[in-house]
This record gives sequence, C-alpha cells and structure tokens, in this order.
Amino acid sequence: MTAQPLPLRPELAGLEPYGAPQLDVPHLLNVNENPYAPSEQVVADVAAAVADATRGLNRYPDRDFTALREDLAAYLAAESGVELGAEQIWAANGSNEIMLHVLQAFGGPGRTVLSFGPTYSMYPEYARDTFTGWVEARREEDFSLDADVARAAIAEHAPSVVLLASPNNPTGTALPAATVLAVLDAASAVPGGCVVVVDEAYGEFRRRGVPSALELLTDHPHLAVSRTMSKAFGLAGARLGYLAASVQLVDALRVVRLPYHLSAVTQATARAALAHSDELMAQVGSLRDERDALVGWLREHGLTVAESDANFVLFGMFDDRRAIWQGLLDRGVLIRVVGPEGWLRVSVGTSKEMTAFKDALVEVAGL
Ligand SMILES: *Cc1c(COP(=O)(O)O)cnc(C)c1O
Repeated sequence: MTAQPLPLRPELAGLEPYGAPQLDVPHLLNVNENPYAPSEQVVADVAAAVADATRGLNRYPDRDFTALREDLAAYLAAESGVELGAEQIWAANGSNEIMLHVLQAFGGPGRTVLSFGPTYSMYPEYARDTFTGWVEARREEDFSLDADVARAAIAEHAPSVVLLASPNNPTGTALPAATVLAVLDAASAVPGGCVVVVDEAYGEFRRRGVPSALELLTDHPHLAVSRTMSKAFGLAGARLGYLAASVQLVDALRVVRLPYHLSAVTQATARAALAHSDELMAQVGSLRDERDALVGWLREHGLTVAESDANFVLFGMFDDRRAIWQGLLDRGVLIRVVGPEGWLRVSVGTSKEMTAFKDALVEVAGL
C-alpha cells in the first residue's frame, strides 16, 4: 500500500508550533512569568479547593462558571475601580483561548483582523486558525500608535476585529486613552461593525496615572478588555485568561466556546488564588520598582530602552543580538530574541535574577 499524504491544510504545511525555548537554566527571564511562586498559604488553599472540586469530578463543571465570574468582577473592581456585572465577564484557558473565541465569533472567512506591529506574535496565528484575514499596520519608531495611522488603517481595511495590546508585547508600550478612543470611534464607522479588543495581559504593571481601557467599557459596547492570571497574578501554569465587555459581546462568545471548556479544577484553582489577590498585588508593586530600576540601569550603560508599562523591558541595539542572547544563556540567563532587528527582551525577575542578568550582560556586551 502506498502511503497517502495527510490532507493537511496547505497553509499549515511546513509550519512549526509556536513557543519560546523551554530550557533548564538557573534564570528564566524569557516568557514574562511572575518570578515568585505562590506562597505556602496560597498552595494550601488551592490544594484544599482542588480536593473539594475533585469530590464532584464525576459531574461536568458549571458551564457558565458564575462564581468565578463574580470573583473576577470583584477583582477588577478592586484593581481598577471599574464595577462590572458577572455577566460582563468571560473566561477561558488562558487569554490565548479568549482571543480565539473572539475571532471565532467575530472573525472568519472574508473578514479581517487588524493589529499594529511590532506586537504579539500569536495574533496572526489566531487569525490563521479561524480563517480570518490578517493585516498588520505599523506603530511609530518609538512603538507608540499614531491615532491618524490607526484611523486610516481601520477605514482602509474595514476590519471586523481590531487587536490592541496595551501594554504591548514585546515593546512594553501602553496606549493613552485618547488613542484607544480614536480607535473605538473609527471602529464604530466600519460598515457591519467592528469589535476592538484591548489586550491588557500586562495591565497590572502599568505605571501610576496610566489608565486601563476597562474605564471605557460603559460607553462602548464594541470594546472588550482581556486580562490574564498568567503574568501579574503568578498563575501561568493554571491557564486562566478572562475578558470584560458588554453582555451582548460576552453572549456571542458563549455561543462558540466548547462545552465545559473550563474544568472544575481550573475554576477552583483560580477562585482560591483570587482570594489572595492582596498578597499578589503587593508583589506587583515590587516588580514594577524592579522594572523601573532596570530601565534606569540599562540607560546608564548606554543602551536604548523602550518605555515599559509591563514586566519586561525591550532593549538594544545590538549588531548581533543572537550572539548577546547566546552569551547570556552560556552564563545561565535565558532571555528572548524578539521584536525588530537589534532588540532583545528581558523579563523582570527577582532582584537576585536581575543582578545575574546585569552581571552577565556587562561581560557579554562589554558595557
Ligand atoms: C502572555 C500574553 C498573553 C497571554 O497569555 P495566557 O497565558 O494565554 O493568558 C496574552 N497577550 C499577550 C500580549 C501576552 O504577552
């Protein structure tokens, strides 16, 4: 029998699965995780909640995860002062799955999703996986977004979805409210409608005075703000992302989700961790300070650094950034080769990790 080729979609031929290297080195500063493991108190509470959930695992979980949505709404109210109803919250296995739900509901064949690069490298993959056209317009040299460029791109491409990462990955750039408002305004003129998603995966790390797009939800039913427990919350391994939007928008996502997509174990874990948000938010404060100190240090050493409202810093410029990356790795420090040519991205870790990074960089880059 001759082997038949597998009927792979032609556009997937030869593609590698997405993912940063997962290497076993002392200092992991490459995927913007929170460097602090959950405290023993959080561990004990999560374990107890999971044990309790386990007693009911013969049954399917609460499909609408109402209790978790209430807890997430309470967390957002405490974090950014915006009061939302549980029915305005959606959750999934990481904000990656949230974005997929958004594109399953509002993208699709013959439609376009627009974003502004350099930005998160997963966005074009969500577009591909939902058969949605992908258009990447440009940010400015300093990685800000020019409102006129955004308006023109929306008018030209008439997207059904606009994705704005703020703070942006890999640059760390947060968008001012005026820019988000300009995008929302242009989006409301798209014939057939346009949903604007502000991806605030790093929202909790924003500097004082930088607003959250959550504040704009009341007046804009076509706005969705996505968040995650993977970064500030230090729960990347649990896989819990969520979104806040109008009830109408959330109801559309409920149609496309797989049945029981959020396991009872995930729901229990997230709720137990959310009960400790005060403790976790205190760590965010120290990571912010660590970030600002790192930005200062890199600049003092003559490097170019993008303004950051996130828990990572994009810095350069290097003629051979790969050699710098390798030199750091040889010294036990794993960072990320990402962003435009010449730049590297480092996640903010503990102060000990930052010292290891700085010592290694001084040697490798001859600072
Ligand atoms: C890390 C990240 C996410 C989310 O990740 P999940 O772990 O799937 O919640 C989303 N958007 C951006 C821009 C990110 O950097």
